[in-house]
Amino acid sequence: MKRLTIEEITAAIGGRLLQGEPTDTATGVSTDSRKVEAGELFFPLIGEQHDAHDFIPQALERGCRTIVLSRQPEISSDKYSNINLILVRDTTKALQDLSAYYLSQLSLIKIGVTGSTGKTSTKEMLYWIFSEKYKAFRNVGNLNNHIGLPLTVLSLPEDTEAGIFEMGMSELGEIDLLSDIVRPNIGIITNIGISHIENLGSRENILKAKMEITNYFDEAGTLIVNEDSDFLSRDMVSGNYRTVTTGETGRSDFILSNINDYGEDGIEFTIEFKEAVQSFRLKVPGRHNAYNGALAVAAGVLCGITMKEAAAGLLKLEITDKRLNIKGKNGMKIIDDTYNASPDSMKAAIDVLTVTKGFRKIAILADMFELGENAAEFHRQVGRYAADHSVDLLFAVGSQAKYIAAGAKEILGADKIHYYETKELLMDDIGSMISSGDVILLKGSRGMAMDQVVKKIMEMN
Ligand code: ATP
Ligand code: MG
Repeated sequence: MKRLTIEEITAAIGGRLLQGEPTDTATGVSTDSRKVEAGELFFPLIGEQHDAHDFIPQALERGCRTIVLSRQPEISSDKYSNINLILVRDTTKALQDLSAYYLSQLSLIKIGVTGSTGKTSTKEMLYWIFSEKYKAFRNVGNLNNHIGLPLTVLSLPEDTEAGIFEMGMSELGEIDLLSDIVRPNIGIITNIGISHIENLGSRENILKAKMEITNYFDEAGTLIVNEDSDFLSRDMVSGNYRTVTTGETGRSDFILSNINDYGEDGIEFTIEFKEAVQSFRLKVPGRHNAYNGALAVAAGVLCGITMKEAAAGLLKLEITDKRLNIKGKNGMKIIDDTYNASPDSMKAAIDVLTVTKGFRKIAILADMFELGENAAEFHRQVGRYAADHSVDLLFAVGSQAKYIAAGAKEILGADKIHYYETKELLMDDIGSMISSGDVILLKGSRGMAMDQVVKKIMEMN
């Protein structure tokens, strides 16, 4: 973060300086009393479990000299005497306000990425493409919510030329809040799936929630979507801003073709834009990454990056941990996609299993959370999809996954399907059921922690 004065910070967050020096400065923020550094502001947040105001003494011990707080500490000791204390009504809101202020002080291209699946993947692609021409910055990992995004913004170096921001949501209004902070020049919606349908009720509402990314566009604001995907046709997303589309038909602005998925050897695809035609190569597998890639290339080209530069940038993209990460063990190939799961990403992962060369194709699929009243049917569909796409052996794990097994049973013989109530029970058996030559996909919602099964397999003798 660029150096800001206490006076400036206090004004930006609508706070009151209870004590301290208005001319003092801070160069960063932290919400973690165990990590805050001297020179940073400490924001004690109030969560469901903890009120971090209790950890203020710890922050002071680490040399922190400015605290933004929402309740007055009992100032009893000398320790507090040289400290700047800024009182606000709500420390989370103050963090968000400060991040919005900070971004408004800088001059950079800002790109927001939302969508049901593929946000992190697209964000990483954007980062590598924009890095070919600009000093680029993006959220670390998956810090994409009402706290992670402000923290990302506040860690942005002041000389950043292109900021790439993943924006996550589970309710209406959340993307509005994040877009209000970022004020993106370009908004990308990767797709409209059914993640979080439990909260939102319908896919129409999911679209509405994602469309909030356009709420703070200025006259030059541009929305980029894959118009082949459900709910994202040009008609459905057009508004008082520029709309640019990617897709596999001639009607799209950026036309995607020749998608080849080589499993662990990655993918290839071609993009045509006006007179330019360029082939692209990614080290990461998955046909869906061609759709993510096209969106990222479109954003780059709109910001003056050539297709050739974009291709060079995309080649640098590395696989993210637990996302279609193909590892070898005892002659087996393990496709670790255990980071999270939704029906769309399950199907995308099964597609990767289909094209990955191996003797038997084994899918170990666990529960998908937050799918609302039709959860059973969504699980059933995934089971049918797996059975329909050359899966030789299916392991379904978890209470909802019994419907995955049931869906698969409509197509695949019962002897090819194994159901386990818990992953612990599966882990007891797995060693004797897989062998050299197998390709094994593992996937489930984060809460299912299927990475533990991957770990178990990787540690097998
Ligand atoms: P989260 O909401 O957890 O932040 P995300 O939107 O950031 O997820 P990624 O982390 O990029 O998404 O990918 C999550 C999963 O979705 C991975 O399993 C990935 O293989 C799959 N995926 C990525 N892009 C697509 C896509 N365009 N269509 C379908 N599945 C996809
Ligand atoms: Mg993500």
